[in-house]
Formats: sequence, C-alpha cells, structure tokens
Amino acid sequence: MVNLILFGPPGSGKGTQSAKIIDKYGLIHLSTGDLLRSEIANKTPLGMEATKFMDQGLLVPDEVVIGMISSKLDANPDARGFIFDGFPRTTAQAEALDKLLALKKTAISVVLSLEVPEDELIKRLLNRGKTSGRSDDSSEDVVKARIVEYHNKTAPVADHYAKFGKFRKVKGDGSEAEVFDLLCKELNELVAEKV
Ligand code: AMP
Repeated sequence: MVNLILFGPPGSGKGTQSAKIIDKYGLIHLSTGDLLRSEIANKTPLGMEATKFMDQGLLVPDEVVIGMISSKLDANPDARGFIFDGFPRTTAQAEALDKLLALKKTAISVVLSLEVPEDELIKRLLNRGKTSGRSDDSSEDVVKARIVEYHNKTAPVADHYAKFGKFRKVKGDGSEAEVFDLLCKELNELVAEKV
C-alpha cells in the first residue's frame, strides 16, 4: 500500500493536486475539509459543531477529524493506498493516524509538502473565495486566521515525519502542470500508475 500525505498551508494547491494524483495512481482521496463540508451541507450535528470553528478559521477538535478518518479507512479495506489532504493538521492527529495505519499493518510512505510564499497563498485564497462559495475563503481576517493556525499547530507535523525521514518539500508556486510533474517525480519511485 502507498499512503501519501499531501501537506502544506491553506491555498497551497492540495485539493487541486490530489484530484490529479488520484486519477493517475488510483489512490483513495481523504480530505477532512471536504468531509466536514459535506457534514455541514447535510446539516448533521457533527457539521453544525464543526462550522463554528471553520467560520472563524480555527481547526476543529482533533477527536472529530480522527473519528472521520478512522471510519473512512475501515470503509475502504481493499484500497491500493490513500492520499490524505488537509489531515493530519496537528501532531496529535499525526500520532493517531500512525496508530490507525499500524493497526492495518501499513504506514505513511511519504509526506510531500507544497511550498508556496505567504503573499501568494492569501491572493489565491481570496480569489477562490470569489467563486467557491466557501465563507472561510472570502474574508481576509478568516484567511489570515487559518494561516496562523497552520503556523502554530500544523507546521510541527512536518517535524514529526521528518524524524522518520519521510518529509519532502516540493516547489508549489509553479503552474498546476509544473507542480504535478514535480509530485509525480517523487511518487513514481513509490507507486506504479494505475492500469
Ligand atoms: P480545508 O478544506 O482543508 O482547507 O479545511 C477547511 C477547514 O476545515 C479548516 O480551516 C478547519 O477549520 C477544518 N479542518 C479541515 N481539516 C481539518 C483537520 N485535519 N483538523 C482540524 N480542522 C480541520
């Protein structure tokens, strides 16, 4: 199994590049942001609770997202591998993920981190807010709060995986195709294209 974490701050292109990767390599895409937005759209209690945090640009509590990931892993026993997008976002989430994967006799193969300068991130997020309908992309204050959360709580996840020699930086500010090419160079060493 190949299990990839696509890492990076909000607006670094994780969602866009995940879509291209699942297409090419046949991995299952697990995006906690997408899962949370679907809970909100369905007006579930979990969604109603999560929206309070998301609207302020804050992370939702660890146990909520860990529970969602755990059920998705159980729901896909025959997966070729997973691509985690927007998860783990705290060291506690990373430790929980490592344990969940160990129970399934697998592990994270690599963490690919999309590196994009901060002014470019803010520009991209506010631009996306004009068309995506995502309330957390339309206010500059909320966008900045998300980047602060990233620095305080998510950046340490890089050290967690660097300790195991699994963390790699990828230049994320080129065109979509250029960034995809760089990601494929890393992935081709680990996984064959789907047939
Ligand atoms: P994203 O679509 O990944 O940018 O996530 C949108 C929002 O959902 C984030 O700003 C958080 O409020 C919440 N969220 C998504 N994934 C996580 C996570 N792994 N841990 C905590 N909160 C999350």
